[in-house]
Amino acid sequence: MVSTVQLLPPITSLAAEQLQEWLSRRGQPAFRARQLRAWLARGAGSFEEMHDLPAGLRSELAGAFRLSSLEPVLESVADRGLTTKLLYGLDGGYTVEAVTMRYPRRTTLCISSQVGCPIGCPFCATGQGPFGRGLRAHEILDQALDAARRLSAEGRRLSHVVFMGMGEPMANYSAVVESVRLIAEEELLGISPRRIVVSTAGLVPRIAQLATEKLSVTLAISLHAARDELRDELVPINRRYPLAELIAASGDFARQTRRRVSYEWVVLAGVNDSDRDADELGRLLDPYLSHVNLIPWNPVEDSPFQGPTPDSLARFAKRIQERGLNVTVRDTRGREADAACGQLRARVQKATA
Ligand code: SF4
Repeated sequence: MVSTVQLLPPITSLAAEQLQEWLSRRGQPAFRARQLRAWLARGAGSFEEMHDLPAGLRSELAGAFRLSSLEPVLESVADRGLTTKLLYGLDGGYTVEAVTMRYPRRTTLCISSQVGCPIGCPFCATGQGPFGRGLRAHEILDQALDAARRLSAEGRRLSHVVFMGMGEPMANYSAVVESVRLIAEEELLGISPRRIVVSTAGLVPRIAQLATEKLSVTLAISLHAARDELRDELVPINRRYPLAELIAASGDFARQTRRRVSYEWVVLAGVNDSDRDADELGRLLDPYLSHVNLIPWNPVEDSPFQGPTPDSLARFAKRIQERGLNVTVRDTRGREADAACGQLRARVQKATA
């Protein structure tokens, strides 16, 4: 934890109607709210910068609100500047991470939805750290606004958001759904939900609920094993919602939303990368409703796990493909940036301890 003394509420914690009301109580016309939100989306660094707002209003805003709920604590850079990871302090003295990955035609932000994660996967730095709390919708939105602000200074635009950082998004369901709507709002970042991925370790009732939201987000299931005996160990929530229930729910999601589900598979050498694992996966998934994304494990300090060699990874991917599934291998962005979720936070916690 870092100590943050913050007295003013962040402006982003006000819903659109609340902001409108605050402004109209000060005799401001309705379009002021739109102007102010446009500045937030454009990445204003202070209320003072918002030069099309009257000077009196700017100082009133500065006296009543903070611009963001987040305070950057540490930045870590990798891939010659293409990957940046930020550790933010938030109210209550907690910290969360967000990673920005720059590609030739898109820029993706990997966002956190909770402080720590209650799921406790043994191979994950976040799961091994302490759990704090769920983030509020505006704290999630602020990660995206801050990334957009930093990117616009480089002449880039934030184009994709993935909820694959710290936390289990479906365990913070309302805030995550609200933040998706905010990120998609034209007046704010205007990122289409089709470019937003929400992941889950397998909270089955929430998958069914998400399908009813009419959001068009992509669902990613953190699968990692295709038999219950192994998944019970790797993703402990499996003991509550076993594979048969999970795959039925994600298949229903794909049919209802007409969007393929992405199945994430962190490849752990000698644990879940055998021919048997590939064959089981081939039997488990419907190729028309699924896409498999292999993620070579990112080493975590003091962990008994190991990542695959390039050869064994290629062999595993080929075997899955031969079972009729679409498969991609995610690039290993940001290894020097402590890019596995929770690593930067764990490093800072260790250093401060
Ligand atoms: S892998 Fe995902 S679900 Fe598992 S502990 Fe880490 S953040 Fe939580």
